[in-house]
Amino acid sequence: MDTYQDMLDRFYEEKPEETKKEERLEIPKPQTHIQGGETIIKNFKRISEALRRDPKHLLKYLSKELATAGNLQRSQATLKGRFRNYQVKEKLERYIKEYVTCQECGKADTKFMKVRGIQHKRCEACGARTSVKEL
Ligand SMILES: [Zn+2]
Repeated sequence: MDTYQDMLDRFYEEKPEETKKEERLEIPKPQTHIQGGETIIKNFKRISEALRRDPKHLLKYLSKELATAGNLQRSQATLKGRFRNYQVKEKLERYIKEYVTCQECGKADTKFMKVRGIQHKRCEACGARTSVKEL
């Protein structure tokens, strides 16, 4: 597991000057809540909507990354196991980086598409295409 220092280090590494002028995506912060042996992400649906991604896809990613199983129920998602809020937030940020924002222009206006059977995200702002890992 990452230490707090690792996280701080990464935080500073990933904040180069140029990100300042980008339009930042407004993502609701994950509201997590541990209940018994499970972690509930209360605003899961709102997060997927803000990212314009299928909640199933996002949940699949989180479950995979956190090596657990997940379930969708209406507006929330439940993950088996106890996860701290920052762990969920960190995975969410990675998801956004890999599957949502454009690597060229940094905008979040991307859509998934298949090119010769390979999953890509295509940026509607600048037209750039980047292949992404299939989940
Ligand atoms: Zn772009």
